[in-house]
Amino acid sequence: MEHLKAIIIGAGMGGLTTGIALQQAGYQVEIYDRVRELRPAGAAISLWSNGIKVLNRLGLGRAIAQVGGQMDYMSYYSATGERLTSFSLQPLMEQVGQRPYPVTRTELQQLLMAAIAPGSVKLGAKCVEVEQDDDSVTAIFEDGHRATGDVLIAADGTHSVLRNLVAGRGIARDYVGYVNWNGLVPMSDDLAPKTHWDMYVGHHQRASFMPVGGDRFYFFLDVPLPKGTVSSPDQYRQELTTAFQGWADPVQRLIQRLDPNTTTRVEIHDTQPLTSLVRGRVALLGDAAHSMAPDLGQGGCQALEDAWVLANYLKTTSLGVADALQRYELARRDRVANIVNLARKRSDVTHGKDPIATQNWYDELKQENGESIMGAIVKTILGGPLN
Ligand SMILES: Cc1cc2nc3c(=O)[nH]c(=O)nc-3n(C[C@H](O)[C@H](O)[C@H](O)COP(=O)(O)OP(=O)(O)OC[C@H]3O[C@@H](n4cnc5c(N)ncnc54)[C@H](O)[C@@H]3O)c2cc1C
Repeated sequence: MEHLKAIIIGAGMGGLTTGIALQQAGYQVEIYDRVRELRPAGAAISLWSNGIKVLNRLGLGRAIAQVGGQMDYMSYYSATGERLTSFSLQPLMEQVGQRPYPVTRTELQQLLMAAIAPGSVKLGAKCVEVEQDDDSVTAIFEDGHRATGDVLIAADGTHSVLRNLVAGRGIARDYVGYVNWNGLVPMSDDLAPKTHWDMYVGHHQRASFMPVGGDRFYFFLDVPLPKGTVSSPDQYRQELTTAFQGWADPVQRLIQRLDPNTTTRVEIHDTQPLTSLVRGRVALLGDAAHSMAPDLGQGGCQALEDAWVLANYLKTTSLGVADALQRYELARRDRVANIVNLARKRSDVTHGKDPIATQNWYDELKQENGESIMGAIVKTILGGPLN
């Protein structure tokens, strides 16, 4: 279809990537976000090869390679520092044809913003309602402003208000059962080798270092806790010191070096897979369509896949917007449902939902030579649209 106008709600990585793909397809794009200043929540993100391939396809390959971390090896250690397994990620890259890039969220956002036509993103615009008829769709904002187009993409994140409209019912977010602290620390050999993704696992907890650009590690620390456990930055170090007491030296150093004021602490939630991703001229995209546990590092990658698939159906078909969105739903629904479910399973095993299964996993890691871990990641990557 030609000459479409797209209204995108949400200027996160899903909304911005969709905006870029639609602008490159020749469409007029308006992106609205409720915040007055775009500041991504969380420190960094690992973009696996399926997500990077979408960026490559949009001409952003060189830009992401410049800010991404060089992650060449993966290692698991026990809580006390015994090496369980360590292997090169080269076979994975050869199988899928693209290396993954861990990247800071700020740099990813800057890169996407630089690729959007100037003036396309409007801030301080909270969408509260959507109206549609046979010819158009209109977003209505809290201040009464209205924006009308041919298609509306709801990329309004995990707390999406538009998700309920598409689903026709209230969709609850479910607590996955653990709290995640994440942030950035300067790279240092006494934390982890600079091209390694190192993970310490034990007691249903996890501590991890991943290289990002600018000689920094993206770290995260997971602890199963009851929902609603109250904390504040001045308590983080003590909370983590207690939770990780007796863990290996790199984990202790990390807890001492992290800056609590720039560390994010988040209770991890997901949503049950949705049966509808579209309604008429409205399409859900990214976390609005599929909030998942971050245990596969796929939430953002799936948003990028969504963006590419949606833009393609709009561009390559001619039976109307609603028809193109149906095709998007058909292409994406099972793929994302499967990944939401896999991520929840991975989270349950890592965080001790069934302690015997978690102990079995710790034991399996001692036998692991990389094949089965990389095999699972490759399968997820190659299940994407640019395989
Ligand atoms: C701890 C953690 C680690 C993660 N690690 C990874 C990883 O390694 N790899 C990976 O691929 N994914 C990861 N993810 C998932 C990833 O962060 C998300 O999938 C991704 O950010 C979703 O992007 P989005 O654009 O859909 O939503 P968001 O980035 O949440 O953007 C939504 C935007 O919509 C705006 N908005 C909301 N409501 C309205 C409204 N009513 N009107 C206007 N604007 C609105 C918000 O202000 C926001 O800017 C992780 C998530 C967490 C929590």
